[in-house]
Amino acid sequence: MQAKKSPQGSKYIFVVGGVMSGVGKGIAAASIGRILQARGLIVTALKIDPYLNVDAGTMNPVEHGEVFVTTDGDETDQDIGNYERFLGIEIERLNYMTTGRVYGSVIARERNLEYGGKCVEAVPHIPYEIIHRIKAAAKKAKADITIIEIGGTVGEYQNILYLEAARMMHLESPDKVMFFLVSYLPVPSKIGEMKTKPTQFAAQALNSVGIQPDFILGRSTHPIDEPRKRKLALFCNVQPDHIISAPDIDVVYEVPLNFEKENLSAKILKQFGLKAKKQDMKQWRQLVATAKSQMPPVRIGIVGKYFETGDFILPDAYISVIESLKYASWHNKRKPVIEWINSDDFEKDKKKLKELKNFDCLVVPGGFGSRGVEGKIAAIQFARENKIPYLGLCYGMQLATIEFARHVCGLKDANTTEINPKTRNPVIHIMPEQAAKLAHKQYGNTMRLGAYPCKLKEGTLASRLYGEKKIFERHRHRYEFNNDFRQVMEKKGLIFSGTSPDGKLVEIIELPKKLHPFFIGVQFHPEFLSRPLSPHPLFFGLIKAAKR
Ligand code: GLN
Repeated sequence: MQAKKSPQGSKYIFVVGGVMSGVGKGIAAASIGRILQARGLIVTALKIDPYLNVDAGTMNPVEHGEVFVTTDGDETDQDIGNYERFLGIEIERLNYMTTGRVYGSVIARERNLEYGGKCVEAVPHIPYEIIHRIKAAAKKAKADITIIEIGGTVGEYQNILYLEAARMMHLESPDKVMFFLVSYLPVPSKIGEMKTKPTQFAAQALNSVGIQPDFILGRSTHPIDEPRKRKLALFCNVQPDHIISAPDIDVVYEVPLNFEKENLSAKILKQFGLKAKKQDMKQWRQLVATAKSQMPPVRIGIVGKYFETGDFILPDAYISVIESLKYASWHNKRKPVIEWINSDDFEKDKKKLKELKNFDCLVVPGGFGSRGVEGKIAAIQFARENKIPYLGLCYGMQLATIEFARHVCGLKDANTTEINPKTRNPVIHIMPEQAAKLAHKQYGNTMRLGAYPCKLKEGTLASRLYGEKKIFERHRHRYEFNNDFRQVMEKKGLIFSGTSPDGKLVEIIELPKKLHPFFIGVQFHPEFLSRPLSPHPLFFGLIKAAKR
């Protein structure tokens, strides 16, 4: 074997899926991290996506869901967002792995003659690269515990080399590596009984690649009862007390608490031979109790567009926005009632706009392309004129400036050049370096990405909400506000309350209090920084305004 044993180093927990995907493996991985962190350990987490794309940035939301952006500008899977939210830490580019990345580095190294003239092969060189990346991420985070979630399910051809890497790591240090199988236990309606066989097959599939699960997390509509726990233990070759129940719940933040009901952190620590502090989850417990309590509702409308896929219609993917709205509501002692409003509807029927009166606040989240845009602009106009609290995120900020230019400044054809490159009033335009990238078809990882500083103007809503002079927020866009229009819009009352430190890039716009109780748009994505125990000030402010 290649690498030397590190004297102390991290312990590794691999989380793999069985039976089917989409059962909350990411939440499970994040929750395992949370309960270990609550015992004073340093935890980091990695996500492996077994597709060939280098990152999630070039995939559409139907294919992939939300693209989560890290501080260092990586365009990742939404599970990275789950890790950040559950663990309250910043996850780095190093912690996100795709087959595209792994093969990319191996091929680059081969071209540099770094394999010393050897034949470079899928096995072992790809697993070696995977192991190298996992260990590098653990070292960078100085982690006691490193959680590695392998995307998809065991038995898929795509993730075989990742499982091979995991097996090799276990062979190298059996006492440092542990496997969790997250599996689904169906309760077919016609049978009315929880079935364990699919999970038994999943465990066998894992065995067939040389891996024995140490724990099984049984996802299901119901808790797993004792007879089924015994059955799973016997047939999957797992200790009975290592079969952990993970029934459906309403508030995902309860998952770590449920795991602790089965003493999961103590069981993990025991197997690793680790000693740790007593568990401290007081604040987390309080948050979950609040989330589950009876509270007056706050009605939140997210104006966006829908995608069709086969027989199903899905909203654009915005898990971070939705979670941010939940935290802000809970901390305002309100029950969030979030509704997805299809902006296409307003284009077909203007009268529908009146229905927006039913909402306490409105959000237009990030987006791309022209579909539904006129409907979004109409909704923003309605929010502005009817004084409904409004928060515009990225595209939602750009479209708010367009709405203001059209209806307040009288620039009738104001637009973004993303939609109308020939408009006489390009209120939003592309930056020259971005245009050059598009001209050369350089689409991947080339937007303005990751954290940038923003200075706030004193006395504005933004500076009141943040309570700071300078902030850092994460970006993901190609277009920017066009400074040629700053003066006209300022004259008509729009406030440019946040800019890049050199004043050149507009980052936040808002309306003064005398014109609107809460109307703010930001060029960045605050949703990526909101955490359950510390809601983002913009979202918190929105819900606070919505209460009035
Ligand atoms: N489409 C816009 C841009 O590229 C906004 C992007 C976004 O909302 N994330 O600038």
